[in-house]
Amino acid sequence: MSLFKKKILVTGGAGFLGSHLCERLLNEGNEVICLDNYFTGNRKNIAHLIDNPYFDVVRANVASPDTAYLEVDEIYNLACPASPIHYQFDPVQTTKTSVMGAINMLDLAYRTKAKIMQASTSEIYGDPDVHPQPESYWGNVNTIGYRSCYDEGKRCAETLFFDYKRQYDVDIKVVRIFNTYGPNMHPNDGRVVSNFIVQALKGEDITIYGDGSQTRSFCYVDDLIEGFIRIMATPKGVTGPINIGNPGEFTMIELAEQVLELTNSSSKLVYRDLPSDDPKQRQPDITRAKAELGWEPTINLRSGLTKTIAYFDSVLKAEK
Ligand code: NAD
Ligand code: UDP
Repeated sequence: MSLFKKKILVTGGAGFLGSHLCERLLNEGNEVICLDNYFTGNRKNIAHLIDNPYFDVVRANVASPDTAYLEVDEIYNLACPASPIHYQFDPVQTTKTSVMGAINMLDLAYRTKAKIMQASTSEIYGDPDVHPQPESYWGNVNTIGYRSCYDEGKRCAETLFFDYKRQYDVDIKVVRIFNTYGPNMHPNDGRVVSNFIVQALKGEDITIYGDGSQTRSFCYVDDLIEGFIRIMATPKGVTGPINIGNPGEFTMIELAEQVLELTNSSSKLVYRDLPSDDPKQRQPDITRAKAELGWEPTINLRSGLTKTIAYFDSVLKAEK
């Protein structure tokens, strides 16, 4: 270990967002430890980093890791499946991952006096009846539905972060991430952007859940990672929660139409049942991110989709 490098732990570092974050942190001259159990993560996402002498990978479950030997300066806690089909596959484990994972990482932060950032989510607003969603909105979440393991796990994690701050003076940062997309999403991730792009590129039907009038606001991954870096650099008093997302709001039909146009695909739209508790609308109010981080997104949906389509095109061609 160099005396002069920051030592940074990224849980969920082999996943979509985590792999981009590990790369960015290494490029900035830090030492990075990626902790992941590969539930939804992928070794391919970090394969290009493995030879970096300042990159370590630990295979562990964030809900029960051995962290006694770790000394770190910063922790980014991203470990948790994020796609509805994956977090609903083993819902008990999803709640354990969020809640026990938060406790374990907060204990580590307390012991080592590290700053710690929690990857929270716009899902804590549930099916919002305030639009767009500011951080002051407490949300509209079903406690017993299929999405609850994720939503309530993340809500409890936020509670734990603020209680560790109040009780133990831990230097916490909480970001509420709105739908983010980009390269390194798994082709079978199950979230809407990767589903539509893969379906369009393969000439398969585009699966619209419900009537497609529900909205989401899509942030390109590079913008999001910039937000992570900025909040971690803030002084101790800046805790969040801070929404990080792109306010550009689209219906799923509009998203499908853009994907079809950009892929030049003749795939047809087909309609499937809307999953229960699927939020009808979602758009971040990013006033706080602008004021406290000087952050706002720079990449619009069209250019972000173009980069993401190029990524999936190369992945699908390599699979042939
Ligand atoms: P992802 O599924 O690609 O990555 C999650 C990573 O966590 C994977 O590498 C997975 O293997 C790992 N993981 C899961 N459970 C684990 C456990 N118990 N122990 C160790 N590792 C575990 O998802 P992502 O989109 O990269 O999301 C990363 C984080 O950001 C998650 O916490 C998610 O809730 C949050 N988030 C993401 C979005 C988004 O749009 N991408 C939106 C809101 C919140
Ligand atoms: N969705 C869809 N077709 C798909 C996958 C998702 O129409 O193949 C819809 C889904 O019902 C939701 C929106 O797209 O309304 C975003 O879904 P995603 O799983 O990406 O994220 P989340 O619902 O967690 O915001």
